[in-house]
Amino acid sequence: MAVNENLRTPIVSVMGHVDHGKTSLLDRIRGSAVADGEAGAITQHIGATEVPIDNIVNKCGDPSLKDKFIVPGLLFIDTPGHHAFTSLRSRGGALADLAIVIVDVNEGFMPQTIESLHILKRFKTPFVVVANKIDRIHGWEANKNLPFLATYNKQSERVKSDLDNKLYELIGELYNIGFNSERYDRVNDFQRNIGVIPISAATGEGIADVLMILLGLAQRFLEGNLHYDATAPGTGTVLEVKEEKGLGTTLDIILYDGTIKKGDTIVVGSLGDPIQTKIRALLKPRPLSEIKAEEKFQQVSEVTAAVGVKISAPNLEGALAGSPVRVVSTDTIDAITEEIKSEIADVQIDTDTIG
Ligand code: GDP
Repeated sequence: MAVNENLRTPIVSVMGHVDHGKTSLLDRIRGSAVADGEAGAITQHIGATEVPIDNIVNKCGDPSLKDKFIVPGLLFIDTPGHHAFTSLRSRGGALADLAIVIVDVNEGFMPQTIESLHILKRFKTPFVVVANKIDRIHGWEANKNLPFLATYNKQSERVKSDLDNKLYELIGELYNIGFNSERYDRVNDFQRNIGVIPISAATGEGIADVLMILLGLAQRFLEGNLHYDATAPGTGTVLEVKEEKGLGTTLDIILYDGTIKKGDTIVVGSLGDPIQTKIRALLKPRPLSEIKAEEKFQQVSEVTAAVGVKISAPNLEGALAGSPVRVVSTDTIDAITEEIKSEIADVQIDTDTIG
């Protein structure tokens, strides 16, 4: 088996309470590659980071693994946690193919994270729980970048049992939400059990395990869902609506199917009628080596899924994070505008009734 050119990169949503370590985990996934002299291989997207399969396999220390995987890599998105985004996603379908739910092992799940877990359950999105900050457990001896079991086996019995107890608490909370879970190395069937992976984003312990388990999930559960049509009109989700100096209001989107081009007409959700507008520019981050303060972005003429990209266009004020964004033609514009309108209307009813 080898990488299948017809499959797009699986999109991995990284969710978790503020301060539990989302940014540190993503930095670690990016940074470890920089340390390995492979920085060029990692591609920065708007709101996302793409890690190619070679990189992941190297990180896991077994080159023969490459033949076992058919996905080209993983695209990690830093998923906004605010309520508007979450409620739109819970109506509009799963944004990601896979998810990482990160939790500070010393604090446990916070309410917003529990809401995310319910959404993953509703959409049957395969995910792992990453129990972060194991290095904060009293007496923990850090072993930089080691896989979890290798570092765990070097700890004292007291530290091991302290960690085990914290993990049991997480496993209990997951059970209350309706998930069977286990420490990942004790899981035989990832379709029936959620794997809990203890890590430290600060020391790099357990990071290789996270990447391996994600690839395994992608391989086992997603193959049928990753086929895409590069020639189809682009379909994506708005991650953030942002003001940019010199550009006005812009959309950071994740494109998960088809192609989007400069000059395309798009429809995007807003609190009023959906916005119909024409793309003035498509923007990607500059490569790290070329960053100048005044030029954060570079223009591209088109992009194909899966990718994170910034859209500059007129009239984007009022666009909603979490809403769909779709490329339309004169034939499809009316029908697609109606679809997006009813999707947003459902959510407004929902938030009205909840209060
Ligand atoms: P985010 O808000 O979820 O993106 O969290 P951050 O990644 O910004 O982390 C919040 C704080 O926790 C920062 O001060 C990090 O340095 C710290 N932190 C994150 N992961 C770890 C970890 O594994 N161990 C320790 N000791 N600190 C961590």
